[in-house]
Amino acid sequence: MKQVTVVGAGLVGSLWSIYLAQRGYHVEVFERRADPRKTGIAEGRSINLALSDRGWAALEKVGMADAVRQSAIPMYRRVMHAVDGALSFQPYGKENQAIYSVSRGGLNRLLVEAAEAHPQVTVHFGHRCVDADVEQGRATFESADGTRDSNGEALFATDGAFSQVRAKMQRRDRFNYEQEYIDHGYKELHIPPAADGSHQLEREALHIWPRGQHMLIALPNPDGSFTCTLFFPMEGAESFEALQTVEAARAFFAAQFRDALDLMPDFEAQWAANPVASLVIIRCSPWNVGGKTVLFGDASHAIVPFYGQGMNSGFEDCRVFDAVLDDCGDDLDRAFAEFARKRKPDADAIAELAMRNFVEMRDLTAQPEFLLQKKIEARFSALHPGQWMPLYSQVTFSHIPYAQALAAGKRQDALMAQILARPNIAENWESEEVMAEMRRLLEATRA
Ligand SMILES: Cc1cc2nc3c(=O)[nH]c(=O)nc-3n(C[C@H](O)[C@H](O)[C@H](O)COP(=O)(O)OP(=O)(O)OC[C@H]3O[C@@H](n4cnc5c(N)ncnc54)[C@H](O)[C@@H]3O)c2cc1C
Repeated sequence: MKQVTVVGAGLVGSLWSIYLAQRGYHVEVFERRADPRKTGIAEGRSINLALSDRGWAALEKVGMADAVRQSAIPMYRRVMHAVDGALSFQPYGKENQAIYSVSRGGLNRLLVEAAEAHPQVTVHFGHRCVDADVEQGRATFESADGTRDSNGEALFATDGAFSQVRAKMQRRDRFNYEQEYIDHGYKELHIPPAADGSHQLEREALHIWPRGQHMLIALPNPDGSFTCTLFFPMEGAESFEALQTVEAARAFFAAQFRDALDLMPDFEAQWAANPVASLVIIRCSPWNVGGKTVLFGDASHAIVPFYGQGMNSGFEDCRVFDAVLDDCGDDLDRAFAEFARKRKPDADAIAELAMRNFVEMRDLTAQPEFLLQKKIEARFSALHPGQWMPLYSQVTFSHIPYAQALAAGKRQDALMAQILARPNIAENWESEEVMAEMRRLLEATRA
């Protein structure tokens, strides 16, 4: 069977190695980081991610979903925290639909261990890719023991947003590449468990403090803590740059996120210790060089985290790629080109959707009109199942290709703008008259 090389044992590379092994490939995986089990370095602060249906489906396909589910916490709704501490709520989907908080480190370890348990997979930690011959599907790695070349017949590059393999592809003629840092960066903070080990905020929810130009979010961890992320401009009057001292940061939190601050007894120490990181969007094409090298996951499409879809889309890459290999009978020349052709429009769409969701989360979730729109959509969708799936549900709870979801979402927004412009809509939104008008407008868009 084919011998192939995977660069990067992050979330996507480790899952993809399992897929490849189950297809019968021999896989050598090279990962820059040291093996955390051998260095004894603790994982430190818990950082979590939202896992949703696309990710679950990809895990399910290789039998990994049950193991991940053991420590995943369902988040059934958004809980919005106003400046005065008042709470409002918005379910993510229908009853029992949830997105799941999972530990990034725990999930990565689980996937790497499952890959390594496969006799056809070898993972080399402490091996940094320093060069790649993308036409030949070979790469060169540096480790404490020196330099070595891979000898697989193809290269799968899952080495993240700052991919070394992609850097080599960029030198090729007609390779398109776009890298955009958004104005906002982020800092992670931590809300510890209560004295009895319980969660200090509602456990099965994603908490948001939407404040217009910035926001704080919090996702639950199994140990009773929450990981919070502040998304904030990097520069300007209200920015990380402007918060020069921990005292200034505390004053800002006291004014903006009082209820969260009250749950962080060591706020000053955390603020000083935790780094500010930037957020980047990467677009590039083509993703492949013949049947020899292909990029996927963040290496080909890094997006901002506001739809919680970066990892999910990378996991979906694995499922889509696997199906393409089936269709192409494992002919890599055909499969690499077909995967890139099929998947690129979806990657572009989720990049756009993720930026749109940033505006929704930081700004719109605090606006009554937005909440009203969501209520009307939910009611219509409950009355007419199958006729209206809210955009969030299409992205999060379905496998509809992202590009189709984006197009449908734009049609829905245009229709909802007409509904929200109706007189007294805040009072009569549940009426049969409004529902009938939605049916009529929907019919008209289909005509
Ligand atoms: C703040 C934040 C919150 C997020 N929240 C979510 C969320 O809720 N839900 C979601 O779905 N996504 C989320 N994401 C996105 C998600 O983290 C990424 O999409 C995901 O990690 C991509 O996986 P990957 O394997 O492609 O890349 P990575 O996770 O970056 O893994 C790349 C791997 O390659 C290794 N590597 C890099 N360079 C080399 C080299 N030269 N040689 C060898 N190895 C190398 C790295 O060490 C790493 O292990 C979030 C991202 C951020 C920044």
